[in-house]
Amino acid sequence: MQWRGRRTSRNIEDRRRMSGGKAAGGIGGLGLIAVLAIGYFLGIDVTPLLQGAAPVQQGGGEITRADEEAAEFVSVTLADTEEVWAELFRAQVGEAYQPATLVLFKGVTQSPCGGASGATGPFYCPSDKKAYIDTAFFTTLSQRLGAGGDFAAAYVVAHEIAHHVQNELGILGQANRMRAQASEAQSNAISVRVELQADCYAGIWARHADRKFDSLDPGDVAEAMNAAKQIGDDTLQRNAGRVPAPHTFTHGTSEQRQRWFERGFESGDMTQCDTFSANRL
Ligand SMILES: [Zn+2]
Repeated sequence: MQWRGRRTSRNIEDRRRMSGGKAAGGIGGLGLIAVLAIGYFLGIDVTPLLQGAAPVQQGGGEITRADEEAAEFVSVTLADTEEVWAELFRAQVGEAYQPATLVLFKGVTQSPCGGASGATGPFYCPSDKKAYIDTAFFTTLSQRLGAGGDFAAAYVVAHEIAHHVQNELGILGQANRMRAQASEAQSNAISVRVELQADCYAGIWARHADRKFDSLDPGDVAEAMNAAKQIGDDTLQRNAGRVPAPHTFTHGTSEQRQRWFERGFESGDMTQCDTFSANRL
């Protein structure tokens, strides 16, 4: 992706230099449990990783050059999402787009959806309309999840912002009300529809970003598609040494995540992302 030297977003809340150690005091593991237990935060599901043999690094500590690069990259990508969604809301929704705030943190932080740590992966919290990303996650993405390349990271940012789009459209609120009254398996099935729609919206973003900014390099779409594959529930569970259990899926299989991203990318049309009325996901 062509991103160096490009416009960055004003909607970044950088918490990386807050005394992370202090904020961490006492939450640590508990904060992690809280955010996982709530369930309605919408993140990259790295729980299979947490159950794997190796401990997941908590991040924290010094801001490295890689962190700085990641922060600038995220900010440029966020700015791109703002322009694209402002245009799409005008053209396809008929309303003004109110952008999300993106919180950068390192190690641990708090959100109204619960405590966050780098180990939980990036997520979106609907109640404060903020996306949370630990800049160290991109290292996890490429090294532990096997999703390298800058556009894999762009896809992750675009996916979290897609949850904000769903929130602005009232879709998240409705889905979460349904989930609250459903059995666990039904709640998971609703979550899958939410997540696949976010993947489809991420694809829409990629298409329009390329059209507007000519920002995609050859291979970028393949990087996003590979990321979608690596964070599919079946692949994550298999890589954690488990037999995939479909009733526990909250994000969709690798094949589904790739297909819905592609559908958004090919069409550029929000009506093509209606996972809620799709017979086949
Ligand atoms: Zn998500």
